[in-house]
Amino acid sequence: MKHIILFSAILLTGCGKLGGLQVVRNQTTHEVRQIVFQPKNMTKPKNIIFLVGDGMGLTQVYSGMTANKGKLFLESCPYIGLSKTYASDDYITDSAAGATAFSIGQKTYNGAIGVDKDGKPVETILETAEKQGLATGMVASCAITHATPASFIAHQAKRSMQEEIAADFLKTDIDVFLGGGRQFFEKRKDGRNLSEELRKSGYQIAYTLDEVKNAKNGKLAGLLADNHPKKYLDGRGNMLADMSLKAIEILKQNPKGFFLMIEGSQIDWGGHANEADYVVSEMLDFDRTIGKVLEFAAKDGETLVVITADHETGGLTLNGGKIETGEVKARFTTLHHTAVAVPVFSFGVGAERFAGFYENTSIYDKMMDLLNLKK
Ligand code: MG
Ligand code: ZN
Repeated sequence: MKHIILFSAILLTGCGKLGGLQVVRNQTTHEVRQIVFQPKNMTKPKNIIFLVGDGMGLTQVYSGMTANKGKLFLESCPYIGLSKTYASDDYITDSAAGATAFSIGQKTYNGAIGVDKDGKPVETILETAEKQGLATGMVASCAITHATPASFIAHQAKRSMQEEIAADFLKTDIDVFLGGGRQFFEKRKDGRNLSEELRKSGYQIAYTLDEVKNAKNGKLAGLLADNHPKKYLDGRGNMLADMSLKAIEILKQNPKGFFLMIEGSQIDWGGHANEADYVVSEMLDFDRTIGKVLEFAAKDGETLVVITADHETGGLTLNGGKIETGEVKARFTTLHHTAVAVPVFSFGVGAERFAGFYENTSIYDKMMDLLNLKK
């Protein structure tokens, strides 16, 4: 009898059209070891590495964890918080308003890049850090002009203005930026070649991962794809982790410290595509990058690492799975973002400040205070 009731319940609730059950297995997994931070006698960090998993809600994290047989590097973070993601004009944020909340500390409208809700440009944490003598950098597994990285350096009314966003990169003395988006620098309607202009102002320009790896110091711009780098499933390899390590290697040469933003960009796109394999593979790639970053922070002893998301994507639910085999049974409930709060993980000097339940904008406030930055 019990079985019959259970079986009927599955039939009744199980087979919706949108969000058919998807089974994920045979993902590229990785060994995880616990990374431990030994607290130093300091209350504020010298460096902050801020990682954004675009579209990375708790289900994205947990589906990745399950696929990786129950372990992620993320677990080495001793403090966890929750961030309220809504935009100024919408219960559900997009990635531009979400990233601008982190970069300027104000809720703004969907689509806004580094401008407030009235469209007024506001100095970003990256720009303030640069002005006050820190080294600054950004790394992304999408075009570097796409909404998330753009919001830290550009000031434009709309996220679609990618050529204008590219031109804004030349207005700040950012030390390292690595991702895709070459076309927005070099094949422009206004005829400018921004890569040439960057070269003249002292940047090394890298078009391949090997060229990125060969850079040792100085200013570095890496434009590794015309638009977006490939999906992990299509052979992107360890590009995100490798670019992140290079950025750290260059930025840490500044005795005053650094601010680095790293984005796992395509977790979100797996959600929009309603492809669980895509989500999990991007999540695991992001976690491998997190592992490298935490290893650096543990060794360095003066760095804070904060890892969060701008919003959840796809309304992903987990209806089954198996830790031992890494099998995940998942369903999506929308092709868009959802409103649910997202987790914030932190590690290193000042990490305890990120425990709690707060607005996405207060992540900006906390980071500004911890780096002693004044607007
Ligand atoms: Mg993004
Ligand atoms: Zn999205």
